Amino acid sequence: MELLFLGTGAGIPAKSRNVTSIALKLLEERQSVWLFDCGEATQHQILHTSIKPRKIEKIFITHMHGDHVYGLPGLLGSRSFQGGEDELTVYGPKGIKAFIETSLAVTKTHLTYPLVIQEIEEGAVFEDDQFIVTAVSAIHGVEAFGYRVQEKDVPGSLKAALLKEMNIPPGPVYSKIKKGEIVTLEDGRTINGEDFLEPPKKGRAVVFSGDTRVSDKIKELARDCDVLVHEATFAKDDVKLAFDYFHSTTEQAAVTAKEAGAKQLILTHISARYQGEASSELQKEAAAVFPNSITAYDFLEVQVPRG
Ligand code: ZN
Repeated sequence: MELLFLGTGAGIPAKSRNVTSIALKLLEERQSVWLFDCGEATQHQILHTSIKPRKIEKIFITHMHGDHVYGLPGLLGSRSFQGGEDELTVYGPKGIKAFIETSLAVTKTHLTYPLVIQEIEEGAVFEDDQFIVTAVSAIHGVEAFGYRVQEKDVPGSLKAALLKEMNIPPGPVYSKIKKGEIVTLEDGRTINGEDFLEPPKKGRAVVFSGDTRVSDKIKELARDCDVLVHEATFAKDDVKLAFDYFHSTTEQAAVTAKEAGAKQLILTHISARYQGEASSELQKEAAAVFPNSITAYDFLEVQVPRG
């Protein structure tokens, strides 16, 4: 599980920061990639990475502002030219369906793969046996969501050597042991399956704030997460600007991370007003409150380690 920042700027593209898109690479976990937002030229950014568009399985849109969605029609169309056959699902607020369908229809773009567009509300938006993705409302002047990607705990594997040592041969009984059940063996012995399992691997959690004013709901969404990717459009002193434009400051993002008990904070959606030296100040402002903070830049890759 890795994060790859494809665009880390706010509002309009700059030479050093494209508009927002973040890839969550789940290649080991499910041979796929999920995108969070898809600003203009996201497909151009992808060309500089090892991401294959046909591997993009899901795209989660935080809100309908142009700097978060203008890259969608192009990317969806190109995916057809690049051998995309697997279904792709786009999740987003009301309007996402009309935006995509209209763009594709009037440009006569024909997709070679099934496209599912799901307009979401707060709550679980996706769940399978590996992951659950939940959304909460952010505070952004238009309908906007933050997302939490929660990996489910992976049950511990069987202690094969111990089973052998105890002379418990493989058979149907193993499936009960795997579930940690109390089992009576054919020879009359009773064993506790849990004694024969490695500890479960704890699932990881990555949270994306999307664009938002400082928000209690986002803070709860980020509770005890491994990585909080939070917008920090403005510097600490520009708190009024942040409020007026429905954004957050570096310090507000850091307070959210701290109060949520997040393990790591990554600042993104950085205004083009902060260049060079000013940009590195942003990280310091956050780290003063929450030491494990970094500022994202385009093409930054971050591993999400277990435990
Ligand atoms: Zn916005």
